[in-house]
Amino acid sequence: MEIKIIGVLGAGLMGRGIAQVAAQAGYTVIMRDIEDRFVEGGLSAIDSFLKVSVEKGKMTEEEKKAIMGRIKGTTKLEDLKDVDFVIEAVSENMNLKKEVFRSLDELTRKEVILATNTSSLSITDIATATKRPDKVVGMHFFNPVPLMKLVEIIRGYYTSDETVAITTELSKRFGKETVEVKKDIPGFLVNRLLIPHFLEAISLYEKGIGTKEDIDKAAKLGLNYPMGPFELMDLLGNDTTYAIIEYFYNNLDKELKWSIPYTFRALVQAGRYGRKTKAGWYDYK
Ligand code: NAD
Repeated sequence: MEIKIIGVLGAGLMGRGIAQVAAQAGYTVIMRDIEDRFVEGGLSAIDSFLKVSVEKGKMTEEEKKAIMGRIKGTTKLEDLKDVDFVIEAVSENMNLKKEVFRSLDELTRKEVILATNTSSLSITDIATATKRPDKVVGMHFFNPVPLMKLVEIIRGYYTSDETVAITTELSKRFGKETVEVKKDIPGFLVNRLLIPHFLEAISLYEKGIGTKEDIDKAAKLGLNYPMGPFELMDLLGNDTTYAIIEYFYNNLDKELKWSIPYTFRALVQAGRYGRKTKAGWYDYK
């Protein structure tokens, strides 16, 4: 089956980015959110992003128009009836995801792949809401989607080789590189690498072995990382990182290595979520 029309669920931070890269790759996109204002918000964010690309000479006004013309925003789920591939990017909540997958399973043709952009939830569990678990797969993009090169492709328990192959090929057509996560584990690959890095940095800081500034400097100049761990935590949102660590603890046998360090708990309790609240590990103006 040739993929021509892509359904995107959610017009938030991730959904709009996914809709944009799909349309830029030449696909027709139907982007659905639950309220008009969310759909409009998504469409206008894509428009603004592309406007900057035109100003920078990366694309022509005609190309921008053609891309926008390929994205149809809607609040009606029925509008996804004839899509050839679905990418779900609704809020990170298992009950909501299951409800969405149940509806998509009833609505779309049986051969259509239903991919989820979840950053932590179990693909296997989401797939139980459908009668096609072999066609449910994780397709994990990174923020901001138009700029970040990677897509993690995650196998649920029943995901077929064919589903993985088609999803990998589609990601490549979006201009992305892929990695395959062969087992459905909390954190997949990227967050399983990232969280220990954060926890180790916090531990070094708590023990007084280095200052936050020096630990960030060590990562940047000694490892060539673009950002230090404290700077990166503040960028991603300490509340989000907190939730991921908590999820690891609860879903990885309550191993002590995933317990929340006391300085980090205090930081989040104090509402210091990072750049978005203008205060985190560091202060921002
Ligand atoms: P967001 O809050 O910006 O957007 C979620 C959108 O989903 C909202 O606009 C909401 O109205 C909409 N929505 C809720 N129910 C819906 C439904 N039934 N149908 C259609 N739309 C619905 O969140 P986000 O940051 O875009 O995250 C979306 C998903 O992507 C989550 O699973 C998240 O874990 C994952 N993710 C996020 C990031 C990130 O850095 N933000 C990175 C990778 C993956």
